[in-house]
Amino acid sequence: MPEGASLGDPKLKAESARKAFEQEFERFARFRAGVSAESGLTLNSAEALERELSELRTRHTGKKSELASVKKLIGRVAPEERASFGQLVQQIEAEITRGVEEAEAALLAFINDARRERERIDVTLPGRRPRRGHIHPVTLVRERIEDIFVSLGYIVEDDREIETDFYNFTALNIPENHPARDPLDTFYTTTGLALRSQTSTVQIHAMQRRGVPVRMIAPGRVFRRDTPDATHNPMFFQVEGLCVDRGITMAHLKGTITEFVHRMFGPETRTRFRPSYFPFTEPSAEVDYSCFKCGGRGCRICKGSGWIELGGSGMVHPNVLSAVGVDAEEFTGFAFGLGIDRMCGLMYSLDDIRLLFENDVRFLEQFN
Ligand SMILES: [Zn+2]
Repeated sequence: MPEGASLGDPKLKAESARKAFEQEFERFARFRAGVSAESGLTLNSAEALERELSELRTRHTGKKSELASVKKLIGRVAPEERASFGQLVQQIEAEITRGVEEAEAALLAFINDARRERERIDVTLPGRRPRRGHIHPVTLVRERIEDIFVSLGYIVEDDREIETDFYNFTALNIPENHPARDPLDTFYTTTGLALRSQTSTVQIHAMQRRGVPVRMIAPGRVFRRDTPDATHNPMFFQVEGLCVDRGITMAHLKGTITEFVHRMFGPETRTRFRPSYFPFTEPSAEVDYSCFKCGGRGCRICKGSGWIELGGSGMVHPNVLSAVGVDAEEFTGFAFGLGIDRMCGLMYSLDDIRLLFENDVRFLEQFN
């Protein structure tokens, strides 16, 4: 064939390739603007269409396509026609590619949505088991303490964490100038209320509400302005205990604390009372118990002393009883306060009690 002899043929062939594509593409063309939910397509039909579209692309742009053979003619048309013929072929190829890509993107988007929807409501999928939670170590220790005292006839009391001056200090016989009232030690709200600095506040509420005789414990959060470190936290847990009746003596306090440590740490546990001072008790004593780890020989937990501090205790000060209208001549009582966090830290050998409040699941899930 002489060069340029049949210029009409290559152009016709190109137009014929375009036409063939357009005819086959016609049923996909409506998807170019997107596939709406009202299109009536199902996931299966959309997947089939997508496969057919992909085959159509190969048929019209692949190596054996009509377009490919038209491309080969570019080098054979007359030089003066070559540029415009080349442009035409490029244009046709671009039209085919763009059309297929747009329809394909819309179909794939529809398919993805439909698959997600199907998975969402697929009732045959195995269920996801809810992850089982764990009781917080502080709660574990608190519940053990509660169980022991409840079995001794005590009730468990709870009350507010924000208190007036009367309940947090005055009723507990804490004088006006006592350092505990200092804003450096106690948190105050802007209206002058205190975040309770001990759960002894609950015994005041309980005696007012229930009267005496009373046997109660009050576990709960207390707040003090301590800088957090390995053994301190500005918020911690305490258990307050109170027993008021006729004829209650220091012997009842010792017997009760001894029974408690026997049940908590084992029957071989010994107690030790050291004279101390608290405004709300008279006389007052610090209570230690023999180390549950070494039995008193001395170890890392008891820092070599063989004893671990349990908390403060004493006979309820007559002023405290009078503050709630209880006749201090007729009734006497004892009270004690134990730190739950500290006990928890020792029992679980925690190096840092801040671990108890960081809510790190990797830490918390070790307790069952
Ligand atoms: Zn020890």
